[in-house]
Amino acid sequence: MMNKKKINNKTIALLNEYELQAKKSYGQNFLIDQNTINNIITKANVHKKLNVIEIGPGLGSLTIELAKKANKVVCIEIDTKLKAALENNLQDYDNVTVIYDDFLKIDLEKLIKDNFNKDEEIIVVANLPYYITTPILIKIFESKRNLKITRICAMMQKEVGLRLSANKDTKDYNSLTILTQYYCDAKLVLSVSKNVFIPKPNVDSVVVLFTFKEQLVKPINELLFFKLLRILFAQRRKTILNNLKQLIKDKDTIEKILNLANLDPKLRAENLSLEDIILLSDIINKEGYDD
Ligand code: SAM
Repeated sequence: MMNKKKINNKTIALLNEYELQAKKSYGQNFLIDQNTINNIITKANVHKKLNVIEIGPGLGSLTIELAKKANKVVCIEIDTKLKAALENNLQDYDNVTVIYDDFLKIDLEKLIKDNFNKDEEIIVVANLPYYITTPILIKIFESKRNLKITRICAMMQKEVGLRLSANKDTKDYNSLTILTQYYCDAKLVLSVSKNVFIPKPNVDSVVVLFTFKEQLVKPINELLFFKLLRILFAQRRKTILNNLKQLIKDKDTIEKILNLANLDPKLRAENLSLEDIILLSDIINKEGYDD
């Protein structure tokens, strides 16, 4: 049950005052429970020495708590119609900058260079727009190597959160799980009820904490590794031997490679660890492939 005393009425008041309707097309489900907001801040471990990038501040309920606890907050919001209400809500906080743009289109490296000092730690915190959860995360994962981002604390659809933090040998484990593990350690840190949003979403939510690995264990040929990931999980009910036929035509060569990698040809992709796939990629890179 939600504690009524903790309802963040400011969001509801702003929606009314500025005659705003939450836009489904932008994945707008605004947080109205102060407990959930505080829990996200705690799980993200926000403190005064940290800078924060928030994706989709909406009406600012999470932004305000970030502004209180962090050094500096830079937000990226796509919906310019929220501008007047958001600026009203953030007027007491001079450590917040809002950029009105599409997060998927911005130059993240430039944004960081323009807004933060070199060597300052940055984290990403967001109640994500669920329709683009995966592309947002992949954009941050892939830019990470040039950036000072150390972790992401993000609310997302439960189903996606379970996949990203899944263990090997489970139905939730897929190529995205392994891609996530390649860059970071992902941990599900909160389960969130539908009742804490306005409007109420159709799906349950979770918060996942992604901590970037300081040192990546890298395959020799990264492009081949990414391609191999796609191929192995293309038809997840098929054995790895069968899926590998998309990359290597000759069955004997596949069997030789799997033998060198110490992998049973009858295994399925969900049985392979990140390390197994990196090793397999390195052996295929050495032995050669057709495509
Ligand atoms: N942070 C607010 C909260 O918790 O109440 C709003 C979260 S709402 C789930 C997602 C927010 O992301 C909305 O404000 C929406 O307009 C914004 N958004 C959607 N697509 C976006 C994009 N491509 N780039 C930046 N912001 C986006």
